Amino acid sequence: MPRAMRLPSDQDASGRTLGQEEIAALAEVIRSGTLTSTKGTFVSRFESRFASLMGVKHAAACASGTAAIHTALAALDLEPGDEVITTAITDMGAVAPILYQGAVPVFADVDPQTFNVTGASIAARLTKRTRAIIVTHLFGNPADMTAIMEVAQDAKVPVVEDCAQAYCAQHRGQNVGTFGVLACYSLQQGKHITTGEGGIVTTNDDHLARRVRLFINKAWGYGDPDPDHYFLALNYRMTELQGAVAFAQLPKLVPSVCRRIARAQELTTRLRSNAGLRAPAYVPGDVHVYWKYPLRVDERIVVGGAEAVAQRLAKRGIASAPRYIKKPAFACEVFARQRTFGESRYPFTLATNAALDYTPERFPGTFDALSAVLVLPWSECYTEEHVEFLASALAEATA
Ligand SMILES: *Cc1c(COP(=O)(O)O)cnc(C)c1O
Repeated sequence: MPRAMRLPSDQDASGRTLGQEEIAALAEVIRSGTLTSTKGTFVSRFESRFASLMGVKHAAACASGTAAIHTALAALDLEPGDEVITTAITDMGAVAPILYQGAVPVFADVDPQTFNVTGASIAARLTKRTRAIIVTHLFGNPADMTAIMEVAQDAKVPVVEDCAQAYCAQHRGQNVGTFGVLACYSLQQGKHITTGEGGIVTTNDDHLARRVRLFINKAWGYGDPDPDHYFLALNYRMTELQGAVAFAQLPKLVPSVCRRIARAQELTTRLRSNAGLRAPAYVPGDVHVYWKYPLRVDERIVVGGAEAVAQRLAKRGIASAPRYIKKPAFACEVFARQRTFGESRYPFTLATNAALDYTPERFPGTFDALSAVLVLPWSECYTEEHVEFLASALAEATA
């Protein structure tokens, strides 16, 4: 094995599936002169193909994954002070929209082996004020939707699935994103398919689908006999330029997912004899789609833990992420110092003490997960040689 090797990166052409198809579609949009999705056809064609690929009735494209989460919550029409259960290990773009809608994020702990929230950890945070649950399928690992839906249905609380990292992941043979009432996806640079920035919301519910479309379009009733701005909403539209790229990316999604899974399984096999590392844990029979390859590093066996392994990998040109995110969402300033709208601290002012209780004892799984995890970059462009290189670098880094 070479001492160093340049792994394909999702931040440039080396690790992406962008090519002639995207260029041709983009050129078509530019020649047409119609760059807005309110008049063009690429965004709407992308939406209907995405919906049929995922097996859902409606898909609406929007400006980002953050916008998708915001749109899903707005569709649910929460009241100020309503509680939304979510995870503290996620992108801030999945949390900030809760505050923008005047609702209170309540963090459920995660299973330190799967990094996901569970039925039990959500149940532990349910209150009379819970109005929504966001389930993030972290790193592409499907959460245990059987247990989660049981808890949610008992409590009559709608579930929004955050599938930004989990395109085509499956739980018990069913696509994630089809368990809850709404699902959100991101098309940001580093996701399974990309338009640089972009997002998608899906649902099977006609009423929610209408609210989703309206929220993306300043709540203007396009196509209605007597349209108006029906409620408070933003312009979260995707442009036709992005729509063209999304349309060309979509047929590449399933093959990319398959390649990611195949390479990940090779690495998992190669790591089996390494006592200091634990390969991604998921329910047998479920489909993990490896947005990244998250390892657990056993600090009792590998001196210095994930941090030390990352430093050794960096010497061989591998940019891994120990901790994934520096700290849980609730430890970031926006939460710790309640920095929201001016000096108001709204909507934290509406929260109960229990909702704002971020003491570490309430989050043993979250802290365990962050201290043990080492996130390897992953790409559909990896070859067996890249996997071999990663495996040998990991063996050396944990010896
Ligand atoms: C990327 C991501 C988001 C936010 O998407 P953007 O397109 O970056 O706004 C939300 N949730 C999760 C889990 C993500 O990975």
